[in-house]
Order: sequence, then C-alpha cells, then structure tokens
Amino acid sequence: MEKGQKVSRKGLENMSLAHRGKKHLETTKQKLRKIVKQKWTDKKYRVSLSGCNSPNWKEKNIGYWAIHSWLKKTFGKANKCTNLNCKKKSKIYDYCLRKGFKHERKRCNYTRLCRSCHIIYDRYEK
Ligand SMILES: [Zn+2]
Repeated sequence: MEKGQKVSRKGLENMSLAHRGKKHLETTKQKLRKIVKQKWTDKKYRVSLSGCNSPNWKEKNIGYWAIHSWLKKTFGKANKCTNLNCKKKSKIYDYCLRKGFKHERKRCNYTRLCRSCHIIYDRYEK
C-alpha cells in the first residue's frame, strides 16, 4: 500500500512539473487593472453636463474604457497634446475628459493630452 502511494504521488509531481512549462496568459492582471481604473474615473468624473448639444444619450452607464475604445476607433489614436503650454515631457497621448463634461459618446467632451499634461489637468480638477 505505502509503496504504491509513494509512486503515485511522484507521478503526480511529474505531471504538475510538465504543466508548469506552459505559459499563463496574464489577462487577469490586466482585467483587474481596468476595473480599478474604471472605478477611479467614474468617481472622479461624476460631474454635471454643461454645454455640448443634444442629450441624446441612451447608454447611461457606459464605461470609461468603452468610451475610450470608441474614441480611438472613431477618431484615431490620440497623437498630439492640445495643451498650448505643453512641456513635451511625454510621448504617450490620451483622450482626456474636459472639465464640466461627463463620459459620453461625444467627441467634444474630450480633448487630446499627453500623459504629463493629463496628470496636471486632473490634479487641478476640483
Ligand atoms: Zn502635453
């Protein structure tokens, strides 16, 4: 009995070692990161709509990432910074929600900023 158990345990170990060679897809990490960011932005950007025409908005709870992928798909990747005082510190560009606007499928609610200006822009939001 004991001998048999030892052998089978060793067999199991060998199997798990063989499995360890396979690469795990790191999607869980990315998913978590997205959720964290989404929660953070939802809270941050809960501001009332002002300006910008026609409130024909049906997808009320549209996510930050849904909007951003829509912006990218429709208007292309953000490739410049609209801040006139940009220090050109970053070459990563994002669509940035303008102050006083909320996340909607409207181009005019967003502006293009580099990562550096985006952080500064967000910091001064009150
Ligand atoms: Zn900039």
